[in-house]
Amino acid sequence: MRSTDIRSTFLGFFQERDHRAVPSSPLIPSDPTLLLANAGMNQFKPYFLGETAPEHPRAMSVQKCARTSDIENVGRTTRHTTFFEMLGNFSFGDYFKAEAISWAWELLTRHYNLDPRRLWVTVYLDDDEAVRLWRRVGVPSERIQRLGMEDNYWSMGIPGPCGPSSELHYDRGPSFGREGGPAVDGERYQELWNLVFMQNLRGEGPGKDGYPILGELPARNIDTGLGLDRLAAVLQDVDTVCETDLLAPTFQLVQEMAGRGYPGRDGSDDSTSFRVVAEHSRSVAFLIADGVMPARDGRGYVLRRLMRRAIRHAHRLGIDGPALPALTSSVVGTLGSTWPELSRGSELIEQVVTAEEEAFERTLRQGSQILDAAIGRATTTLSGRTAFELHDTYGFPIDLTVDAARSAGLTVDEDAFAELLEEQRRQAHRAGQGRKGGAVARQDLYRRVAAAHGLTDFVGHSSETAET
Ligand code: ATP
Ligand code: MG
Ligand code: MG
Ligand code: MG
Repeated sequence: MRSTDIRSTFLGFFQERDHRAVPSSPLIPSDPTLLLANAGMNQFKPYFLGETAPEHPRAMSVQKCARTSDIENVGRTTRHTTFFEMLGNFSFGDYFKAEAISWAWELLTRHYNLDPRRLWVTVYLDDDEAVRLWRRVGVPSERIQRLGMEDNYWSMGIPGPCGPSSELHYDRGPSFGREGGPAVDGERYQELWNLVFMQNLRGEGPGKDGYPILGELPARNIDTGLGLDRLAAVLQDVDTVCETDLLAPTFQLVQEMAGRGYPGRDGSDDSTSFRVVAEHSRSVAFLIADGVMPARDGRGYVLRRLMRRAIRHAHRLGIDGPALPALTSSVVGTLGSTWPELSRGSELIEQVVTAEEEAFERTLRQGSQILDAAIGRATTTLSGRTAFELHDTYGFPIDLTVDAARSAGLTVDEDAFAELLEEQRRQAHRAGQGRKGGAVARQDLYRRVAAAHGLTDFVGHSSETAET
């Protein structure tokens, strides 16, 4: 099943069940506490908190999500990407657990035709009601596992709604990992769909397991998230999202540029690099299309870090010369009809990635020499000072330094690095100004590019601190 059919099957199914389609929010959320949209429920938060009333009590969406917290996982696990699409159905004080569970089961087994014997379910420890409901749709008890707060409990704010969740996992088979269900191995039993049952009110203080429950919510809500990328990999019977129709053309292009084929999911550095380059290119295209510009902190830094990481891994594969312009253009070609903002932004995307890649090439040439020399000198650990200098003077994000060190069998003193970074921030703050020079000049360039495309005000308006 192609990804366009996966999306339309989802929306058709829930439309028949009276859900109203709500378009994806941009990756830059209106919620000031959030760096980037990372779940379908983000834009519905005011409904869940009871701040505003929805026009209709049932909604469905295909939400663009970015999760930088998963950046290190890309290429290492088969299931994590930094950008993905989340399919979701939502109930605002309307239907609850019974419907959410039976519809999820019906959609997966009868419309997407997943083999029910490969589906496993997790529920929160004491959620007997959920167990009963899963048993009722036909899940045998040996494929239902109970997990704790960490995995199967969800909460939002204090005081705020909270509640148990239940997740559907797909067994990708023995080549992916150990037997024993999702409680044992998240690579083999990949989580496809998370169902959150918002039924309680969370209070302050440590309380039970750190989540004191004040009582029942007056209106109970449903929030679900089904990962399109993972589902596509399963339905198209491929190992990773890179080989699905969402990314295959870009993945193919990486291989052409490298002049060799993807070695498969063999755990090698090469395998990781092929996937990182393709996957990050997609995130970069979507972020720029939604108005994120490279910067020294906030979302702009997330974007910069993704670009630099993609470029570094492209180098690892022996790709010389600009990589991102062609790769992001391939992303636009594949996904531009589903996500028209990509097509509209194609020129902007090209200009931004071209400028950034040129600038990074210059700093890399200098930085690589320093890094190689430092790695040559080190025996077990690369000092925080070296990592900081690389970051500060040569524009090397810390994760690139860590990657390079790891490949050479070294670790990096990341605590010392973090301290130096913090010290620099304090100093900059005391001086009442950020950095001057190159970074500012470059931001001016982006402002000009943005103005030419009718986009304004997107440099440095994030309230989040930098992620490094
Ligand atoms: P995992 O445990 O595998 O990291 P999660 O519990 O963090 O997943 P949720 O926050 O519950 O994921 O998000 C709902 C769904 O979105 C997941 O069930 C999964 O299908 C998808 N998803 C989450 N994170 C990613 C990611 N980094 N890449 C691709 N899909 C993702
Ligand atoms: Mg996760
Ligand atoms: Mg999980
Ligand atoms: Mg989950």
